[in-house]
Amino acid sequence: MIQVRRGGAWWRTVGLTRRVFQGAPLPVLAAAGVMVLNGCTAGLYSITVAGLVDGLTGHAPALPWTAALIGVVVVELGTNSFREVTDTWVSNTAILHAQALVMERAAAVPLARFLDPAFNDRLARARGTLGDRLRDWVNDALSLTNLAVRLLSLVAAVLVLGGGFALVAVLLVASIPLVISRSQVVAAERAHNERVARPRRVGDALGALMTTRSPAAEVRLLGLAPWLRARWRQAYQDWTAEDRRASSLRLRWNAFAEFGNISGLAATLAVIAVHVAGRPDLAGVFAGMLQAVTGLQSCVAGLLYRAGSMHEHATVLDDVAAMLSEPVEPDRAQDADGPAVEPPAAVSAEAEDVHFRYPTAVEEALRGVSARVEPGAVVALVGPNGAGKSTLAALLLGLYQPTAGTIRGGPRGRRPATAVLQDFARYTLPVRDNVGFGDLARREDDASLHGALRRAGSELEGGLDAWVGSDFGGPDLSGGQWLRLAVARGVLPGAGLVVLDEPTSAIDPLAEVDIVRRLLALGRSHAAVVVSHRLGIARAADRILVLDEGRVVEEGTHEALMERGGLYARMWTAQASWYRPAPPEAAGRTGE
Ligand code: ADP
Repeated sequence: MIQVRRGGAWWRTVGLTRRVFQGAPLPVLAAAGVMVLNGCTAGLYSITVAGLVDGLTGHAPALPWTAALIGVVVVELGTNSFREVTDTWVSNTAILHAQALVMERAAAVPLARFLDPAFNDRLARARGTLGDRLRDWVNDALSLTNLAVRLLSLVAAVLVLGGGFALVAVLLVASIPLVISRSQVVAAERAHNERVARPRRVGDALGALMTTRSPAAEVRLLGLAPWLRARWRQAYQDWTAEDRRASSLRLRWNAFAEFGNISGLAATLAVIAVHVAGRPDLAGVFAGMLQAVTGLQSCVAGLLYRAGSMHEHATVLDDVAAMLSEPVEPDRAQDADGPAVEPPAAVSAEAEDVHFRYPTAVEEALRGVSARVEPGAVVALVGPNGAGKSTLAALLLGLYQPTAGTIRGGPRGRRPATAVLQDFARYTLPVRDNVGFGDLARREDDASLHGALRRAGSELEGGLDAWVGSDFGGPDLSGGQWLRLAVARGVLPGAGLVVLDEPTSAIDPLAEVDIVRRLLALGRSHAAVVVSHRLGIARAADRILVLDEGRVVEEGTHEALMERGGLYARMWTAQASWYRPAPPEAAGRTGE
């Protein structure tokens, strides 16, 4: 749902346009110049046509009027052709600068903003439409300028040709049905767009289920295609029925507008005809006037159409402007300066009585957690699903700010940190980037990159500049291969705090043992927090924090916690039971 801030949408959109074209005003100025020049030709054309007709009927010198008319036509055609060049220039500038603004802002807002669905919707709209909408808005504004100048020049022509203000007034009054019709059509179209939005989205989602890769296997296995097709057809028919209703409404209002137009034209022609009847010397005036009044009518229609279209764009752009005025995190705003340059150092991290609630959640995810990770120590966070382990890890990394309590130390500002998270990034770029993103200062340092790959146990063929991932024709890597690239990325800077959040959940047990061994070695040389369901990994840590329902309920070494016989000991015993020989009656039922 588009959020519309009331009032001033136009002015805020003008502000947004100014911001986008701030660094590059030339294309807009050039386009505006072309539009003004082109608009002036309309009135001059009517006057020169009148002069030429007088020339041909022997009431004026023909040659100068012919030359003048040719001159006007040349300027009109020339500016029309040049308009294509300036339009493309404006469009490209709008898209480039607007998208750059969106990317800059999206990378600088606090990560917690991404937890807000309204923010994500706005960001998606900004990414998808900002450039195009802004281009259309600017082009509409330029056309509006052109039409306004055209209208003034035609009114001037009518007056120069002796038509008087009364004639102009008749024409403007005759435009009233057009004004009413346009406003009705705009309102009806807005309602129509709202009505079709849902069937269209449903249709698109169902269509995507049948034509994209990830659900393809399930759609076949479950035989869903005929059902999905039928639902898609229904959604399609719903929205085309709405389209038909909207078209017939448009047709009726357009007929009403045309009636006004034709009556107005007939009335003005009658006035002109009475004025020039029996006066061959006024034949030129008649021709010029005829040209001017028909031009005026289409100008009024064009102005109304463009204003309606600008209003629609302004409503959407206003919503996007809100996204671009999101407050930024001070540290991230400096990222344009380049990668972090501070030398890596072992960092301790500490949480003191920390509370955290996700913006969309009712309950707190953390309810007064205190924890400390010293340099060189590996601390494991364990506990049931939803206990708050990942949330605590994210807070120690400084990704979110606590709602209450304090986080000390850790990677603040541009201090280095490494996180190999459950949903670590898979960059479909060359190997060099996949590893080098860990420390951009070493992206060109082949020896460091090879060293990091070796330490992660990655054995990809093709060298550092080989692309990976099928998006750009590279090989599609296995989960384990992607993970080793992520580990290499983590190893590269020798970061101060290492956070490992269930990174090995999607790989096979042998690869897991190897990767965990490497990650723990990395953690030991710095400071590490490991989140894992596999208690075998937790056992290798120096200290284990057991979380449950957002609180630390136990803390200690594996041996101490086993002796205590609490939640950890119960979890350990339950997991260990899978690895004991199965009793005879359970054999063969392990897949249940
Ligand atoms: P764990 O890592 O122990 O499984 P999490 O830290 O992921 O637990 O989650 C702690 C609590 O916060 C859970 O109740 C979970 O549902 C909730 N939670 C996690 N992420 C979000 C989110 N993005 N929005 C709302 N609630 C969330």
